Amino acid sequence: MDEKRSPSLSYVPVGTDDLAELAAAARRCQACDLYKCATQLVFGEGPTPAPMMLIGEQPGDREDLVGRPFVGPAGELLDDALDAAEIPRDQVYVTNAVKHFKWEPRGKRRLHARPSMAEIHACRGWLEAEIGVVRPEVIVCLGATAAQVFFGRGFRLTRSRGVLEDGAPWAERILATFHPSALLRMKGGDEGEYTRVRRAFTLDLAEAASAVSFRSPGVRHRGARSSAAV
Ligand code: SF4
Repeated sequence: MDEKRSPSLSYVPVGTDDLAELAAAARRCQACDLYKCATQLVFGEGPTPAPMMLIGEQPGDREDLVGRPFVGPAGELLDDALDAAEIPRDQVYVTNAVKHFKWEPRGKRRLHARPSMAEIHACRGWLEAEIGVVRPEVIVCLGATAAQVFFGRGFRLTRSRGVLEDGAPWAERILATFHPSALLRMKGGDEGEYTRVRRAFTLDLAEAASAVSFRSPGVRHRGARSSAAV
């Protein structure tokens, strides 16, 4: 991660391990301009601690309206892939690198706009605070934006996707894979390519799960990459 102090740290309560307290404080955050155009802040959700933490880029249109992460079409695709990878959804914490929806108008629609490095850096204080509370064994970065938070702006998904990296000091391991929205954009195009990427996504999740001890009895993930089905 960028070593410079994140501006949002000025808003983060010191020494709390209460997620609700963090989320309440985050709703007052004005560390960058994104709060001005979003409907509401979308904080992460899930159990704390949690063995696996998934980090996306930012809330989408539906998440912005509902106020919860991964509840739109991308969230449905993600849930299906987690199921295919035999990952218990109730033991996964989900969040985004940036907590407010960045968008640009296109007629009556609000189109996703990629957050800048400055905005990602501004929001990093909240992500660090969440990691401190969630204490994940493995972090899965969904898309290059989330991965760049940990591996720097030089990270490329095309080169380093699906590899379990040393996660110190944030987790034991970190793995980067596709963002489910990227898969959604491929739907309706080349069917063979979509099937290939979707399978790779599931296998990446299974690989991440192989580094985790989930609570559910009978669920085994060691070596899951070789056996996961799409
Ligand atoms: S995007 Fe993050 S840093 Fe910017 S105002 Fe929202 S919570 Fe604060």
